[in-house]
Formats: sequence, structure tokens, C-alpha cells
Amino acid sequence: MTRTVNIGPVSVGPSSFAVIAGPCSIESAEQFLPTAEFVQQQGASIVRGGIFKMRTEPGTFQGLGEKAFELVRRMKDQVKAPFIAEVTDPRQIDTLMPIVDCFQVGSRNMYNYELLKELGQYKVPVLLKRGFSALIKEWLKAADYLIKGGNENVILCERGIRAFEGPLRNTLDLASVAYLKQTQELPIFVDPSHGTGRPDLIPAMARAAIAAGADGIMVEVHPDPSKALSDGFQALNFDDFQALMDQIQPYLQLANRKLSHG
Ligand code: PEP
Ligand code: MN
Repeated sequence: MTRTVNIGPVSVGPSSFAVIAGPCSIESAEQFLPTAEFVQQQGASIVRGGIFKMRTEPGTFQGLGEKAFELVRRMKDQVKAPFIAEVTDPRQIDTLMPIVDCFQVGSRNMYNYELLKELGQYKVPVLLKRGFSALIKEWLKAADYLIKGGNENVILCERGIRAFEGPLRNTLDLASVAYLKQTQELPIFVDPSHGTGRPDLIPAMARAAIAAGADGIMVEVHPDPSKALSDGFQALNFDDFQALMDQIQPYLQLANRKLSHG
């Protein structure tokens, strides 16, 4: 039986289905606040937004860093949604702690055992993304670093594994989701944005994630993807996000899950 993990007022677990949505990176008040408001109105219960980014290319936008904190506080005042952001270094934990309701450990850091050991010292939930070359057993051992450290509030997130060269950014391994639902108790999310790298495939992969037993999805949304400072090519615009939320409803009913609310 899947455990329940609480992210602020949102219960993540077996009977509900939580949608985490927001931009890849927080860029500005004009970009972040309307996005957070819109995704929440459409049924997302947790807002995401990158602050410290792990970019493949040096010289590209690395996130606003601490300059984003004020925007997150404004979002919490106005939209009142719980918030998740990636922590890329143990030295960020103390500063991020007051503004996040859940830490995200990114794919590139799944093997960063010092970071996992440090996050194991707290009770703040951790969304642990699968390393893009990680075996399922390596992913679970990474989760064990958190749990054995004392933090049982762990959520797994399948975000795709290294693909052969082609039109897809990654290969979204939904069999891992079905397998992990049968074999262990941590809630599991699916990230169809990084999992495919293509907005046109996100709805189908979200529906398939529900069928595979996922407890939620994480989706990147931007008011104008063509102007995004990171991952614009895979972001949904507002209309696409609204369509996605409409499309998943009947699938949630079939799976006997209710969209979780904050
Ligand atoms: C992200 O969620 O913005 C991100 C960088 O994801 P991943 O670690 O899965 O690449
Ligand atoms: Mn991204």
C-alpha cells in the first residue's frame, strides 16, 4: 500500500492525484505569479518553479537564485499554494527551507549522496527524480539515503531515462511506475515534460501515467514558451495546460482517484 506524504496541506498518496505545475525556472513577477495563479485555478495543487538551475550548458540562464525568494513569498500570499523547488547543493538547504514545502532532487543529483544524507536530517518532503541513467534499484537506494537518515517523506518521480538519439528528449519509463507501485510503498509521480521534451506528447503521457498507477504528475507551464529562459521547447502554454486538465478528468475517474486540492 502506498504511503501518504503531505506537501503543505496537500496529501499525496493512494486515493488522490496531485498535479504539480509551474515554470521550469522562475524568471520574473510577470511570468511567475500569473502562471502560479492560472495553474491553481485549473486544478494544480502544488506550484513548481526552478530557482537554482542545473543547466547542461554553462553560460545559459542558471536561475534567479535568492532573487526569486521574494516572488515565491508573493505567490504564497496571493495564490496560497504549496511550493516545490530543486535544491542543487547542501549549502542551499537552510535558505530554501523557509520558502519550500517540498525539496526537489533533480535527475543530475540523484547520485549526490552528500545532498541526500543532508536532506535526510529534516522532515521536509523530498521529490526524488530518477537519475537519467539510473537503474530502478539505484533509484530506490538513493531514496534509502533519505529514509535511513530519518526522513520518510519521500516521493519518487519518473522523468525519463537516456533515449537513443531521436525526436524524444528521454524515454519515459512508465513500466517503472507500474513496477514500483507493486513492489514498494513510496508515492510516485511522473514528469511527462522532461520525459518527452515535447508539449504535444504531454497529455498522452499524463493519461498513461494515470493508467500505470502514478500518484501525480509534474508539468512545466509558461505564459509564452517561446520566450522562456529554460526548457521553453517543452512547456505548455496556458491553453494547453487547461486542455490537459480537462483531458485527464475521465481517466482519473476510471482510476478511482480524485484531483487533490490544497
Ligand atoms: C526540472 O524539473 O526543472 C529539472 C531540471 O528536471 P530534471 O532534474 O528531471 O532534469
Ligand atoms: Mn525544466
